[in-house]
Amino acid sequence: MQQLQNYINGELISPLSSEWIDNFDPSKGEVYSQIPRSKKEDVELAFEAAKKAFPAWSNTTLEERSKVLLNIASLLQQKLVDFAKAESKDNGKPLALALNIDIPRAVSNFKFYAHALTQFGSEAHESVGKNTINFTLRKPIGVVGCISPWNLPLYLFSWKIAPALAAGNCVIAKPSEITPMTAYLLSEVCIEAGLPNGVLNIVHGLGNEVGQAIVEHPQIKAISFTGGTKTGEHLARTASPMFKKLSLELGGKNPNLIFADCDYDEMLKTTVRSSFANQGQICLCGSRIFVEASIYEKFKDDFITETKKLQVGVPSKASSDLGAVVSKAHMEKVLSYINNAEKQEAKILTGGKRITVKDHEKGYYLEPTIIEVSSNRCQLNQEEIFGPVVTIMPFKNEEEALELANDVHYGLSATVWTSNLDRAMRLSNTLEAGIVWVNTWLNRDLRTPFGGIKDSGVGREGGFEALRFFTEPKNVCIQY
Ligand code: NAD
Repeated sequence: MQQLQNYINGELISPLSSEWIDNFDPSKGEVYSQIPRSKKEDVELAFEAAKKAFPAWSNTTLEERSKVLLNIASLLQQKLVDFAKAESKDNGKPLALALNIDIPRAVSNFKFYAHALTQFGSEAHESVGKNTINFTLRKPIGVVGCISPWNLPLYLFSWKIAPALAAGNCVIAKPSEITPMTAYLLSEVCIEAGLPNGVLNIVHGLGNEVGQAIVEHPQIKAISFTGGTKTGEHLARTASPMFKKLSLELGGKNPNLIFADCDYDEMLKTTVRSSFANQGQICLCGSRIFVEASIYEKFKDDFITETKKLQVGVPSKASSDLGAVVSKAHMEKVLSYINNAEKQEAKILTGGKRITVKDHEKGYYLEPTIIEVSSNRCQLNQEEIFGPVVTIMPFKNEEEALELANDVHYGLSATVWTSNLDRAMRLSNTLEAGIVWVNTWLNRDLRTPFGGIKDSGVGREGGFEALRFFTEPKNVCIQY
């Protein structure tokens, strides 16, 4: 059975403990590889390598740094099909999704930051009348930690690593132990691309062991984390008293507000996608759907009809719209929410069950599920389920829609469907979310700030925001 390796100081090596963790193929419910169970000692080894590499890497010219990142992007592009197959097998997502979204986006992340670093500038302030000029240096922080989740494995891993490296830092990165494969393949690409030894180190293992060791390390000065809100809270408790820079991209419970004056066909098509893409395991999926009362019954019928057409099946099959959810534990968590629905005066309109797929009987397949709720205060609407489950309920008017949308602890994204520009602007201003989409969904320009408010996180990724996060500003004041 394949044993993945850590990538430390430019080499692929086994964990010092010689302990391994099983890695599952969720489409079959079977172990197919093992990953290092790294510990504090492996993080220390990675830290020493990164510290040694930092003076040279932080002094490379922008052109040299950009060239290495472009090499990584181009090798990823060449190996796109292999990476997509690996991502699909490791995560359970449809191969088509990995081919068209996940891996192309990882390529774009490296390309984007290869170019962005050559355009990043800093400010100068002339104190007129005082013969004084101030200018700001943007210094790389040193060794930084990047920790990512399982839902969009390489996509989110590279979304952190690329800007961290572009800004001149050395990195210790930890992918999710549930989806480690493409991070491992990335190590091989980095070696081939000529990334100097120790600049990027990828350490595999459990969150509470290797992840915790990264967060606790006194000389790792910044942590960029994407994952669950509870984990983010724990991280903040550890890292804040150490005065580390923290970027936390956490959970969501995103509202979709559907008004009667919207482009109905476009809304319906996109709402099916924003509900069930990647088995509903995208932090930006719209999981609370609120519909204007006058079109509620029509929407309900059409949404059920379209959802029933979705094929759940083996991820490698072109006909599969949904693959498997990521793990047995996650499948059971999602099912427990569904099984609790009736106690909350909610009604399952379609779906709700595990599916047995021929020749993949032990795989973790779930029906796409729509639940009608009678209150936004129920558990189904207040807690992140992060699976192929959405709720629907009607609203009377714009005021009530806004109140329902904001009545939750989370604040990641929101989607509004309307043709009324004034309403679109009013809601864009008042929705409590870091990202508002109007008449579209998951429409991303990598230059824009990305992140959430409330319990969805602190800080922003994307564009120059990430380069600012991964640098420390230093003001220099000169009198002449
Ligand atoms: P998770 O919080 O369980 O794990 C995320 C990462 O943190 C993993 O690599 C894990 O090993 C690590 N980790 C766990 N405990 C740790 C600790 N004590 N110290 C350091 N690292 C630790 O999240 P998950 O289940 O992998 O991912 C799903 C969650 O991620 C959902 O809540 C989803 O909304 C969120 N998410 C958010 C965004 C966003 O951009 N806001 C994007 C994708 C996913």
